Amino acid sequence: MNHNDNAPLLLTPGPLTTAVTTREAMLRDWGSRDQVFLELNARVRQRVVEIAGGVGTHVCVPVQGSGTFAVEAAIGTLMPRRGKLLVLVNGAYGRRMAQICNVAGIDCVTHEWPELEPVDAATTAELLDADPRISHVAVVHCETTTGLLNPVEEVAAAVAQRGRGLLIDAMSAFGAIDLSARNVRYDALMASSNKCIEGTPGVGFAILRTKVLKQCEGNARSLSLDLYDQWRGFEKNNQWRFTPPTHVLAAFDRALADHAAEGGVAGRGARYRQNCKILVDGMRQMGFKTALPDELQAPIIVTFLLPRDKEFEFHRFYEQLARRGFLIYPGKLTKGDTFRIGCIGQVYPDDMRRALTAVRQALDELGVKDCAP
Ligand SMILES: *Cc1c(COP(=O)(O)O)cnc(C)c1O
Repeated sequence: MNHNDNAPLLLTPGPLTTAVTTREAMLRDWGSRDQVFLELNARVRQRVVEIAGGVGTHVCVPVQGSGTFAVEAAIGTLMPRRGKLLVLVNGAYGRRMAQICNVAGIDCVTHEWPELEPVDAATTAELLDADPRISHVAVVHCETTTGLLNPVEEVAAAVAQRGRGLLIDAMSAFGAIDLSARNVRYDALMASSNKCIEGTPGVGFAILRTKVLKQCEGNARSLSLDLYDQWRGFEKNNQWRFTPPTHVLAAFDRALADHAAEGGVAGRGARYRQNCKILVDGMRQMGFKTALPDELQAPIIVTFLLPRDKEFEFHRFYEQLARRGFLIYPGKLTKGDTFRIGCIGQVYPDDMRRALTAVRQALDELGVKDCAP
């Protein structure tokens, strides 16, 4: 356990609590054209492709900015001018991909499922069979809106069978939930430095099928978000086209080494599953109800229904937890009152147990007797 000091633990969907060693990696300056930094870049890109199971088939192209920048860059780079994207929506991040298309003038249709239900491959297959103009499909792996895990493997099989391209927003799952490019066929998978890899925020990346990326010259509607051009730059000399977030990359490099030392995706995922189980069991013991059934719950972030007890007020509950060193998150469901507690970042089972104690104390402080929704 090597987070610090007096800063609160971030039980949120990100940015997350990072290790002291990760933050320490930022305590120097780097020349962006210097050999040491170029090697760091190459190492980070290589390691990300290894985690993705994409060695030999895919490349990692990072981009400055938050996760959304990587999603926007991947959509803009992969979608041909005459392409049409079907976005599978069961939460805010699916809706955001459709919004990206609307802003960029990319032809796009959505299909919406209720927020507490997974998207499904059979419906996707029907939609693709009914509209041959759909060239690509976009799906969210863990919908962070609710914490729901979508059946991306099944969707990918349906999309591949029909010869269409697939883009996966795996932002909140990459590095903790296995999704190997060796078994799941996709053209692009997007994630960022500051979720399950536990780096600091400031860089997003896409893992792109090399064969597909080679055909993407001139697709992008944006200069800075052109992953084809960004990739050509890296291939040429390992350099970024524009000022790189040097310190963030150094922290990312360190966080990737720690990820490997923890046992990679399996090790990281095991810790998060333990965190999640302790949290859900403990909250249920107090009478809280989760929005999702356990079968649909990813071990990333948990949505709880707000207690009906009149003494429960979210912002007062939040303040009580913050005072005790834990920051939680408001709900994001369009219907129903909820709040969320994250299980990811430099957070360990003992931290989860301490968080449960803080929840009990907060409830006492507020005079909440009944946590039933
Ligand atoms: C965090 C997240 C993003 C990116 O959000 P940013 O605020 O831009 O970092 C995208 N998709 C999902 C599913 C996420 O959890």
